[in-house]
Order: sequence, then C-alpha cells, then structure tokens
Amino acid sequence: MRPVKVKDPVCGMTVESEKAPAKGTYQGQTVYFCSESCRKTYEARLKKP
Ligand SMILES: [Zn+2]
Repeated sequence: MRPVKVKDPVCGMTVESEKAPAKGTYQGQTVYFCSESCRKTYEARLKKP
C-alpha cells in the first residue's frame, strides 16, 4: 500500500499515515498525529464546546 501524507490537525505537521505515531477515529474519520501528545490535545479540544 502506498503511504499517504496526511496533516496533523493540531500542529500542522505532515505525517505519513502508515508511520503516524498516533491516530484516532473521530466521527467515523481516521485522524493521524505526529505524536501521542498531539492526539491528546485534539481530544481535549473535541470535548470543549
Ligand atoms: Zn503534531
């Protein structure tokens, strides 16, 4: 499978989907992150109104 470049929505860094250190599924969509801490930041933002 060809690696897909995706953007970390928290810090804006480009990560390859297959090598992404962290990822999560939100509302049926897989989101990739450069690090576990960015994933936590993203989840914290989701919980806020
Ligand atoms: Zn990041």
